[in-house]
Amino acid sequence: MTLDMDLLKKLVETPSPSGFEGRIRGIVREEMAKVAQKVKVDLHGNIMGVINPQAPMRVMMAGHCDEIGLMVKYIDDNGFVYFSAIGGVDPGVLDGQRVSILTKEGPIQGVIGKKPIHLMEDDERGKPLKIHQLWIDIGASKGEDAKALVSPGDPVVIDVCLVSLLNDLVVARGLDDRIGTFVVLEVLKRAVQLPLKVALYAVATVQEELGLRGARTSAFSIDPQVGIAIDVGFATDYPDVDKKRVGEIKLGAGPILHRGANINPVLSNFMEEKAKEKDILFQLAGEPRATGTDANAIQITRGGVATALVSVPNRYMHTPVEVVSLKDVERAIDLIVETVASLDPQMDFTPLE
Ligand SMILES: [Zn+2]
Repeated sequence: MTLDMDLLKKLVETPSPSGFEGRIRGIVREEMAKVAQKVKVDLHGNIMGVINPQAPMRVMMAGHCDEIGLMVKYIDDNGFVYFSAIGGVDPGVLDGQRVSILTKEGPIQGVIGKKPIHLMEDDERGKPLKIHQLWIDIGASKGEDAKALVSPGDPVVIDVCLVSLLNDLVVARGLDDRIGTFVVLEVLKRAVQLPLKVALYAVATVQEELGLRGARTSAFSIDPQVGIAIDVGFATDYPDVDKKRVGEIKLGAGPILHRGANINPVLSNFMEEKAKEKDILFQLAGEPRATGTDANAIQITRGGVATALVSVPNRYMHTPVEVVSLKDVERAIDLIVETVASLDPQMDFTPLE
């Protein structure tokens, strides 16, 4: 299988901070419309496409299309722009970055400045700044000029594009979770060629980074019996991460299947068996708590949904240099295609004694 790299690049390079997914919505919608029998955007902004909707069992795939970012809070009299975080931003990776302020009139370029090391006192050196100590410089010479262009509430993203590294690795901002949106779209395109026995809903959920909010509304309206969330998962194959605490997950060794209370054991065992039968590499991760993914919101919708989580191993999550392996992406698509192809409305996902 060859991946549609043009689509991946387009998805990843279109900024889409939580609450501001409008730019990516058109791309996702157009892609879904190529194969789905029906495509809908709900009032919350979730984009959903369905194939085989008349089948009695509904399967919902969710790949969130939002990403973390920044938001303009205040512009001072000199034209410097202050901001806070949208979602789990690490302030330690912000200074020295180029950014794009997404104003109503279009993007404005800026930089997150910092005092030169030469001018720092000894005790300031090497000390990370708090987010409110940082500012964006757009080159304005006075407050009025900046205020004419930028408004409180404008979202901001770090300005980087998708590039390739060795060994089929790619790096970008926001692969969490555009890679999940991409997987959902590619599975839908392949599944449309199969004799499916279930209704398959592909959903690009919104506002995951703010508390799984889009998964909650979309799962309620779809009312699925089976849910599969696709997100990124922590790789631990780089220096400075403790495998004893996080587990052993490698890039290029296959998607992660999770086990624990957030995951329906009948569904996850079924997926593990499918992977073995079809020779698809995968890795296991233990989740003693509810996960911080759409799988959590989907599982506890209405009377409960049989939910699984497939993650693409990811280095440096929530930084501008998130890294994933394209081989893992391919295998995640293969595994979900094989799973939905063999789901049957007669199956019972009630956890056994
Ligand atoms: Zn995510």
